Amino acid sequence: MSSVAASISPAANPPAAPVAPESLPDAAGRFGAFGGCYVPETLMTALQEIAAVYEAARHDPAYIAELDRHLKEFAGRPTELYFAERLTAHCGGAKIYFKREDLLHTGAHKINNALGQVLLAKRMGKPRIIAETGAGQHGVATAAVCAKFGFKCRIYMGAVDMERQSLNVFRMRLMGAEVVGVEAGQKTLKDAVNEAMRDWVTNVRDTHYILGSALGAHPYPMMVRDFHRVIGKEARAQLIEREGRLPDEVIACVGGGSNAMGVFFDFLKDESVRLVGVEAGGHGIRQGEHAARFEGGKLGVLQGCKTYILQNPDGQIELTHSVSAGLDYAAIGPEHAYYRDTGRIRYAFACDDEVMETFQLCSRLEGIIPALESTHAIVEGVKRAAQMGKDEILLINLSGRGDKDVAQVAKLLGVKLF
Ligand SMILES: *Cc1c(COP(=O)(O)O)cnc(C)c1O
Repeated sequence: MSSVAASISPAANPPAAPVAPESLPDAAGRFGAFGGCYVPETLMTALQEIAAVYEAARHDPAYIAELDRHLKEFAGRPTELYFAERLTAHCGGAKIYFKREDLLHTGAHKINNALGQVLLAKRMGKPRIIAETGAGQHGVATAAVCAKFGFKCRIYMGAVDMERQSLNVFRMRLMGAEVVGVEAGQKTLKDAVNEAMRDWVTNVRDTHYILGSALGAHPYPMMVRDFHRVIGKEARAQLIEREGRLPDEVIACVGGGSNAMGVFFDFLKDESVRLVGVEAGGHGIRQGEHAARFEGGKLGVLQGCKTYILQNPDGQIELTHSVSAGLDYAAIGPEHAYYRDTGRIRYAFACDDEVMETFQLCSRLEGIIPALESTHAIVEGVKRAAQMGKDEILLINLSGRGDKDVAQVAKLLGVKLF
């Protein structure tokens, strides 16, 4: 796998003047210098069809009402806004609130997007769904919506990830999905995406590809973001009702970037609200040992879009590492690259050891076991809350629950479960 970093000069990427968030991406799918649509010609028609069907659907009251109904009845929206009282006392600063996406059906925010897209597939009359998955969360969400709506479903997953996440593989199969192991490359997420794209090129007439993050070719980054905007919209209204005002800071973890763009989007225009995305620092910022794309990543093209990518000078994709599989990917969503360059969103990273500690801290103080991905946001939140005043409000997006992670954590802590 190689990207085309060498052909893009940094001079092509001057800091952009701020524009209205709703005007992005442009018609070509660009967020400033990022994004776009870099795919084989055979997929262009399918992507244009998705863009057109999505554009019609998002203005169609019948589609909106149907999606809202399933988000409520099947996924469990709205999710609660939760005051983390003991964590707040522990930090001794800002009031910490969690947006409880961990309470959603299948355990994370991913169901918001899976529902939105399966309803689009229905509108397009495509009876077959494919998807890729790393940790298995997006695969489980996709398998669930396919079962519910009667779609044929095939999930591509790296062979190494299948081994690490065997419970999620079994969940998907229980719900009728075919899970295909990918033996190419590192046998992880990037390789699963390649296989899914290959399948799509071959079967594009009857198949819709439910991409799982705010990544890939246009219109995916925009569409996936829009399906998750409900997170920020709800949180904004809930905080105004609870506290009579907006938060001072919002923090979310960033894998591809979908839960973060979803919670951030409706605060982008509020200059008083600081926005912080947290990447995976893994073992530390050394080549091959982390997945913090803004710490040493370079501009390039990978799997459909132009963005920051961890790659070597030849454009070969670097190995990545994180204790949380959902953040372990070499590229970041293009909209994040744009807001990082304009300075509207700040990016930090959390390392595995901090994540392991905070995972236990949150469980012990709040009775909530967070996903390892979401724990990255809590690590930064705990640091920030201590620096902020007691009259300030910090909102953390709890993107998912940690049930899927307890076996891994037990192993890392040296606890034998079975
Ligand atoms: C998949 C996943 C993530 C990372 O994906 P984004 O697109 O960056 O949101 C974060 N948290 C949880 C719980 C996940 O399952």
